[in-house]
Amino acid sequence: MKKLIIDLDDVICEGGFFTLINKFLNSNFTLSDVKGYYMQSLIDDSKLDEFFEFLLESNMYNYVEVIPNAIEVIEKLNDKYELYICSSFIIPSCEKNLGKLIKDKCDWIKENMPFIKFSQMIFTSEKHLIDADIRIDDSIKNLYGNSDMKLLFTSYHNTNFKDDELAKEGIKRVDNWIEIEKLLLK
Ligand SMILES: [Mg+2]
Repeated sequence: MKKLIIDLDDVICEGGFFTLINKFLNSNFTLSDVKGYYMQSLIDDSKLDEFFEFLLESNMYNYVEVIPNAIEVIEKLNDKYELYICSSFIIPSCEKNLGKLIKDKCDWIKENMPFIKFSQMIFTSEKHLIDADIRIDDSIKNLYGNSDMKLLFTSYHNTNFKDDELAKEGIKRVDNWIEIEKLLLK
């Protein structure tokens, strides 16, 4: 069986972190206001500690939406591949209470994908340490390393990468889960 690792945030579900930024600031930012990868750049540095405390208390997974077809396709992939959900729990410059984020991720996965065993969950930001035949992630840095297939899931922060630049790194862009289904479940 081929080993497949799938990212969680902005690949399986999305929107929780951003919703809580708007709640915290009482603002109406849209994703086009975010410059770069880190949404917290919208918050003044002096308020970041307070925001992270609010974020972790609120459980951002209470505010996420499932990306269309993700769960149905993953359930099918789970029969054909040695499958792991691999998610980072590190938030840069947040130093407290990150264990709560692991708990919230783990609870959400169990509730929404009960077919995923605890032994299929990996929580690390060092994803390059894990060998996998196939990787799916919205962050290019998580796609480096030896894999037969590296799929970049389209997200607000990676649309500027051109297909030919990605091809040089052996990376293929996918826009949705139906495309993944066609590629991996032929
Ligand atoms: Mg992600």
